[in-house]
Amino acid sequence: MSIKVPVKGKEEKQSERERLEKRIAQLCRFIERSPWVFHINSGSCNGCDIEIIAALTPRYDAERFGVKLVGSPRHADILLVTGPVTNQSLERVKLAYEQTPEPKMVVAVGACPTGGSVFYESPFTNAPLDRVIPVDVYVPGCPPRPEAILQGIVLALEKLAKILKGKIPEVVEE
Ligand code: SF4
Repeated sequence: MSIKVPVKGKEEKQSERERLEKRIAQLCRFIERSPWVFHINSGSCNGCDIEIIAALTPRYDAERFGVKLVGSPRHADILLVTGPVTNQSLERVKLAYEQTPEPKMVVAVGACPTGGSVFYESPFTNAPLDRVIPVDVYVPGCPPRPEAILQGIVLALEKLAKILKGKIPEVVEE
């Protein structure tokens, strides 16, 4: 007997993307800032990293709302962390966290930083990420789809809105 995995249709994917885009735009307006993002690769296989690029560049285009990659954690509001935190990257991850100004959000992207995946308890890695630095949002998947990464950014922006404005704006259906 075969098992059918439900696959989202083109229209369904489109409406999901539009919902996320509207919510990100609404949250950016609400917190009155463009949330800049610093990406830390802590030893990822590059699978998650490619999906982050897809989420931010023209196909999904979160950059339209100001969610853009920056070259230094000192300029960032959100840290996107991929990979299982290898021993080589451990101090770099901690340093980037310390250098990011408050209020900051940490989003663990992918199965490696969220739970350790196949690297769990390896002597060469330190995953899950929350053993190393505080994590605000967990995005599972190996790798997660761009929609899931955008949803993670939405959750991070909602937490940021709560800190900056004391509340999370209602979802507006247009
Ligand atoms: S979660 Fe999967 S795709 Fe992402 S870095 Fe780990 S192994 Fe690679």
